[in-house]
Amino acid sequence: MNNPPVSGHIAGQGADLAFTDPLTGLGNLRRFFDKVDRLIIERADDPAPFTVGILDLDGFKPINDLFGRGAGDDILQQVAMRLGAAMDQNATVARVGADEFAFLYPLVFSEEAARERALMLIEILSAPYDVGVRTARLSASVGCSLFYSGEENTETLVSKAETALYHAKRSGRGKVVVYTREMEEAARRTTQIEQALRRAVAAGEVEPHFQPIVELKTQRIIGFETLARWTDRDLGVVTPDVFIPLAEERGIIGPLSQLLLQKATQTANQWPDELFLSFNLSPSQLVDQNTAQHVLAILERTGFDPRRLEIEITESGLMTDPASAEKIVGDFHAMGVRVALDDFGTGQSSLGRLRQFDFDKLKIDRSFVSSILDDKPSEHIIRAILAMCEGLGMDVVAEGIEEKEQARRLIEFGCGGGQGYLFGKPSNAETTMALLRESYLASVMRRIA
Ligand code: C2E
Ligand code: CA
Ligand code: CA
Repeated sequence: MNNPPVSGHIAGQGADLAFTDPLTGLGNLRRFFDKVDRLIIERADDPAPFTVGILDLDGFKPINDLFGRGAGDDILQQVAMRLGAAMDQNATVARVGADEFAFLYPLVFSEEAARERALMLIEILSAPYDVGVRTARLSASVGCSLFYSGEENTETLVSKAETALYHAKRSGRGKVVVYTREMEEAARRTTQIEQALRRAVAAGEVEPHFQPIVELKTQRIIGFETLARWTDRDLGVVTPDVFIPLAEERGIIGPLSQLLLQKATQTANQWPDELFLSFNLSPSQLVDQNTAQHVLAILERTGFDPRRLEIEITESGLMTDPASAEKIVGDFHAMGVRVALDDFGTGQSSLGRLRQFDFDKLKIDRSFVSSILDDKPSEHIIRAILAMCEGLGMDVVAEGIEEKEQARRLIEFGCGGGQGYLFGKPSNAETTMALLRESYLASVMRRIA
C-alpha cells in the first residue's frame, strides 16, 4: 500500500477540537456520528450496504489498576495507533468511550466481510503492548451492524452494533458478533414475552408446580421442589428456562418469586407437617439484601413454618457477590430456613465455598445421575460427593433420576435423597394433593398388612 499510514484517514486529524479525542488524536463520538450521517446521505440514491462496528477492550480496567492510569493512557494510545494503521483509505476509526472504539467501513458490504475485518482488528490488538519495561496483553470484542436501506439512521445502526457487542461480550472474550435480522426478531420476541410476563405476574397467573423429593431407600416422599409454570393466553406454554432468565434480566424476578412463594406456601400448608417445601432463588436475588426479609414477610402472611422451608441456590448465585450471598444465607439460617446448594457439579464448583457457606443440603446435578450407569467417572464423582457430604454433615439429593437402576446404584452408594421423573414429574397443587393422599393410603395399607 502506498498511502501514508495513520494520517489522512483517522477521523479528526487536524479537524476541530470538538470532534477530536485529545488523548489519542482520533475522532470522537461526534465525529463518528457525523461521518456515518454523511455516508447515509451519500448512499440515499445508491443504497449499497456498509459496515459500522464498535470495539470494546476486554478487561481494560484491571490493566489500569495494575499498571496505573498513565500506563493505561499509554496503552490506549498504542491501541489507537494500531487501529488507525489498520484502516484503509476509506475507513474511519474513532474513540467513542473510555475503552471503546468505533469504526466505519464504507466498502464492506457483507456480514462475512465485516466479521473478517473485525477479527483482523482483534488480531492486531492482541500483540503485546510495551508498558515501561513490562508488557501487557489485551483482547477485544466487536459488534458490527450493516446499513442496508435508507430506513436506517445513524442511531439505529450504532444501537444495533451495540446490541451485537453485548452478545459478543456475553459469549466470552475476543468475539465478533454481526447484528442479524434474526437477532432483531429474537429481540422483538423477547420484548413480547417480557410484556406478557409482566402482565401475568401482576395478574397472579404464574403457577407453582411441585415435584416430589423422596427418601431413596423407602421411596417415601419427604418434600417437594417448587417449579414455576406459565401458560400465556397468546404465547401458550413458556418454559422456565426461557422466562426465569428473562425475569432476572429485566428485573421481574422479585415480584415473580414473591407471587410463587406466596402460592406455594399456601398450598404446602395443606400438606402433612413433616413435608418440606423447597424453593429456588435466582442469582440476582442473592445480591439483594432485602431478599430474606421479603421471604420472611410472606411466611408470616401465609403462616408457613420457616423450618419447613428450604431455599435452593446455585453457585453462580454465590459468585457475583459472595459477601452479600453469605449474609443472606446467614439471614435464612437465623430464621430457621434451610439452604441447599443446587446443580452441584456444574459451573465452577469450588470446595472452598462449601466451607464458607455452611449448606444444609447439596443437590447433585442431573448430568451425573443420567450417566451413572454407563460412565465410570460419573460414578466416582458421585461417590466422592457423597463421602464429602457425609463428612460435612450435609444431606444429599440426587436430581433427575429416571430409571430404577439409577436409583438402585445411588442407594448402593449411600445417597439419601432422590428426585426425578421416576418418582414423579412436577404437577399442580391439586394433583400433588391427590398424590399425597394416595401415598398416605398406601402407607396405611402397608402398616395394616
Ligand atoms: P432446577 O432448579 O435444576 O430444577 C430441576 C429441573 O429438572 C426442572 O426443570 C425439573 O422439571 C427437571 N427435572 C426433574 N426431574 C427430572 C428428570 O427425571 N428428568 C429430566 N430430564 N428433568 C427433570 P424445569 O421445571 O423446566 O425448571 C428449569 C429451571 O428453571 C430450574 O432448574 C430452575 O433453575 C429454574 N426455575 C424453575 N422454577 C423456578 C422458580 O420458581 N424460581 C427460580 N429462581 N428458578 C426456577
Ligand atoms: Ca432447583
Ligand atoms: Ca437443580
